[in-house]
Amino acid sequence: MNRFDRTDPTRDLEPLIGNTPLLAIRFRFRGTERRIFAKSENLNMTGSVKDRMALQIMRRGYRSGALVRGGLIVEATSGNTGISFAAIGRALGHPVAIYLPSWMSGERIALLRSFGARLELVTAEQGGFTGSIRLADELGHATEGAFLPHQFSNEDNCVAHETGTGPELEQQLGSLGLEADAFVAGVGTGGTVMGVGRYLRRTRPEVRIHPVEPASSPTLSVGHRVGKHRIQGISDEFVPAIVDLKFLDEILAVHDGDAILMAQRLARQLGMAVGISSGANFLAALLAQNQLGADAVVATLFPDSNKKYLSTDLMAEEPEREGYLSPEVELLGVQAIGRVCTLCVDPVPGVG
Ligand code: PMP
Repeated sequence: MNRFDRTDPTRDLEPLIGNTPLLAIRFRFRGTERRIFAKSENLNMTGSVKDRMALQIMRRGYRSGALVRGGLIVEATSGNTGISFAAIGRALGHPVAIYLPSWMSGERIALLRSFGARLELVTAEQGGFTGSIRLADELGHATEGAFLPHQFSNEDNCVAHETGTGPELEQQLGSLGLEADAFVAGVGTGGTVMGVGRYLRRTRPEVRIHPVEPASSPTLSVGHRVGKHRIQGISDEFVPAIVDLKFLDEILAVHDGDAILMAQRLARQLGMAVGISSGANFLAALLAQNQLGADAVVATLFPDSNKKYLSTDLMAEEPEREGYLSPEVELLGVQAIGRVCTLCVDPVPGVG
């Protein structure tokens, strides 16, 4: 299929999504110099990793016929997924309706509105996150031609990472003569950790694949909603259907305050403008490295940028507490490893 094929409009947006640079972050921890690798997912079209999943689900939707031109897209989301579907949906000519827990950041809500999405804020009394999913389903089923991406149960969410994020990571590490010993990622839907994990395990069955959750809200460990936390985008009240905990290694837990402090340091000391879950992922990568040794090649991703957190604790003074790891991380420098050259392997007829 060529890049300008009208039967698959998602191809028009492909160069804007995925194929992100990889960051090698140098730091000192307890006297030893180390490196952790992180994919810059903040550089996607709408500024988050969720663009990958939205594009893949829409691509499959067009191909199967479940998504029709101009059809309504309805999804429940804690923010980034909605922004992805709203923007990509608009780019491809779809109206979009989003159900969102009412306590998500004001920036998320304003951004969704800016893309012209119909927005329904769901309060805790109305069922919060699970209520959002129920209400999205009700609207989807009642509307002719509506498309329900169902990110928490749609395998294409994992496929986006199995065919994109995973191979990119392998090639970028390979360009340095390295292979991943471990990959860690905070679990929202779990699409990232499952998809990248599946890809890396194909060639390296012993690679560690760790899901990450907030210490104060260990939904994965407990099996249902428990406690509260400030790491927006992960630990959404239940264990998603696409997450197979038997496939994954030990769940790593990070304190939300520690994640905030780490994200603040990444911005302040390295100029890396990332969100709270990026701080959590960095600290979880550090925990995995502590288990495997300071030289272990541990990779993760920075799911989004700090722009959606201007009104949150990410921009405020956060107290250091006993047991936090971030105060012991001395960031030394960052080197970006370039994007994988897609035009080299997938030439566009008549171009270049
Ligand atoms: N961090 C942020 C900021 C997110 O929005 C998400 C997606 N909800 C994640 C991490 C987790 O990604 P996934 O859904 O692939 O588990």
